[in-house]
Amino acid sequence: MPAPESPSFVAPPTKALSMPQKALRKMGLARDIDLALHLPLRYEDETHITRLSDAHDGQSVQIEAKVIAAQASLRPRKQLLVTVDDGSDTCTLRFFSFYPAQQKALSVGAQIRVRGEIRGGFMGRTMMHPSFKPAGGELATALTPIYPTVAALPQAYLRRAVAGGLSRAELSETLPPQARWPGPQKLMSLRQSLVFLHHPSPDVSMAALEDRSHPAWQRLKAEELLAQQLSQLTAKQERQHLRAPTLVHKAGALHDQLLQALPFRLTAAQHRVGQEIAQDIAHNAPMHRLLQGDVGAGKTVVAALAAMLAIDAGWQCALMAPTEILAQQHFKKLVDWLAPLGVQVAWLTGSQKKKERTQMLALIESGQAALVVGTHAVIQEHVRFKNLALAVIDEQHRFGVAQRLALREKMQDAGMEPHLLMMTATPIPRTLAMSYYADLEVSVIDELPPGRTPVVTKVISDNRREEVVQRISAQLSQGRQVYWVCPLIEESEALDLTNATATHADLSAALPGVSVGLLHSRMPVADKREIMAQFTQGSMGVLVSTTVIEVGVDVPNASLMVIEHAERFGLSQLHQLRGRVGRGSAASACVLLFGTPEGGRLSQTARERLRAMAQTHDGFEIARRDLEIRGPGEFLGARQSGAPMLRFADLSVDIALLEWARALAPDMLAKHPALAEQHIARWLGGKSEYLKA
Ligand code: ADP
Ligand code: MG
Repeated sequence: MPAPESPSFVAPPTKALSMPQKALRKMGLARDIDLALHLPLRYEDETHITRLSDAHDGQSVQIEAKVIAAQASLRPRKQLLVTVDDGSDTCTLRFFSFYPAQQKALSVGAQIRVRGEIRGGFMGRTMMHPSFKPAGGELATALTPIYPTVAALPQAYLRRAVAGGLSRAELSETLPPQARWPGPQKLMSLRQSLVFLHHPSPDVSMAALEDRSHPAWQRLKAEELLAQQLSQLTAKQERQHLRAPTLVHKAGALHDQLLQALPFRLTAAQHRVGQEIAQDIAHNAPMHRLLQGDVGAGKTVVAALAAMLAIDAGWQCALMAPTEILAQQHFKKLVDWLAPLGVQVAWLTGSQKKKERTQMLALIESGQAALVVGTHAVIQEHVRFKNLALAVIDEQHRFGVAQRLALREKMQDAGMEPHLLMMTATPIPRTLAMSYYADLEVSVIDELPPGRTPVVTKVISDNRREEVVQRISAQLSQGRQVYWVCPLIEESEALDLTNATATHADLSAALPGVSVGLLHSRMPVADKREIMAQFTQGSMGVLVSTTVIEVGVDVPNASLMVIEHAERFGLSQLHQLRGRVGRGSAASACVLLFGTPEGGRLSQTARERLRAMAQTHDGFEIARRDLEIRGPGEFLGARQSGAPMLRFADLSVDIALLEWARALAPDMLAKHPALAEQHIARWLGGKSEYLKA
């Protein structure tokens, strides 16, 4: 049954209207089934007309009214102000961009139907950039879906694409006939569930849709969890035929020497996790362990100690990080720790000079370099290890499948593979993680090293920038250093770069005599390295940067971070960024500057998100709220934050469904392999490989 088309409004042009096809692909919406599984974030009710006098501030409404005044102006900026009257009250519609045809459709006397959010204010009731069309058309019979999308992909376009995908997609049942449904409610078919969720009838309980407790949601979440479990079990079964070197602890060797030489004592959590890893790698089956620990928990030293166990047993270890800056920082730290112990560390990166690179490759192939640190360069084809036994992947969520698989292939002996340690900073509770990652062992560092002072977070409007600059001066005069982060958004990278450059110029002018540096992702690597070196050594006071400092950077003397347009970041991203300060003993602060949209206020959601950041420092709690506020449908966001690749299910709520999927998966693989395969392909398509690596 094809989904009913919802009435489409004439949306005013926005400057990002281009390339919707490209955007679809980027969001992973390639197949019909992908479109069918792209579920609404929320709904709008266009099934009735609201009287203006009944509408309250902040409410999204649909009205029908007559245009009683219309005025286009160019100064102070181009805008069109249209006043409408519906007999109960009036309202002003404001447009900052509009086509002549639209202006004509809004001329005095026109009867129009308008949809938008009502705002109060000194101009009276206002709607910013509402959608509109001639009055009198039929009212919608189903709720109108609002889909997660990106700027380049307008709702109306996406809505048509999804309706098309839904009508064409193959939706036969894949659940085995005997699969017992966990919930108290009746099992809805996949097709019924999807048709319903895309176009629910207006009498449905909004609450059941919003909290995703409706049977249709339950069905979708269960399906998704089953796909994850099946895919991970398949990967685990494939790995069971493989062998890995046994790396047994040698008393008094490098591992123990490093432990002795460290300038600090391990926390209890670090110690426990170290033991878990040591036990794994002492066996001849390949370790496949995820090490979770909040930002600053001290994962690197745990990885270094594991590397020493491998080296003590006569093997090599590789450590791979997602960015050059992060890899370099690891390299520096590891050399500091290991050079005195006589361990040679090799360094590999894409930007390296040919001569140095050739030297490094020789050291790695001969086995002289026991530890190899680098970026993606580590897994390139021509890199040959003598005997790789342990691979560590930092910020694992930033690596693609192909890259992780390639690292495993660096083990030269057929039938053998290296032990794999993956590290990540976005934690989910351990028990949950163990159920969810059917294919992984999970270790958690759940305590921070002692002596850290919590970072005080302030949410401040962008028009109080001057106060913030004074704060910066105060920190600098105490010998501290400051990060200033500017957002970099893919769609308008060039523009954001201009902003970062302008901010850099402003700060340089406002802080005479202070060295202010600029770091952005388009700079040549050598320049980045130079800037980072100056900041790390302390000769640079302020570092203005786009998000490149997001992962891993460790400068304990930095005590203030200002994040501009904080409302544009995901919470987990903000948490990672904030984790860059408060690493030393000085009291540290994070200022979240928010910009207000043109003539308006920060949206309710945006305010809630920033408030959540100021309230908590717990990475798990933040990841949870991020999903809660943005909706788990924010697939891109989830991937960005490194949270598990779940779009619909929420591990903190759907434990019963997870248990159901976990119990069903092995049985299904054994008895209905064809259904299992069909199910995995439908849900994960090309992405199922992600979970295997
Ligand atoms: P992350 O888990 O975010 O990768 P790092 O490994 O970068 O954290 O560690 C953060 C900082 O804490 C580093 O400077 C590291 O040397 C230091 N550190 C690690 N463990 C301890 C500890 N037990 N006591 C004190 N400092 C520690
Ligand atoms: Mg780290």
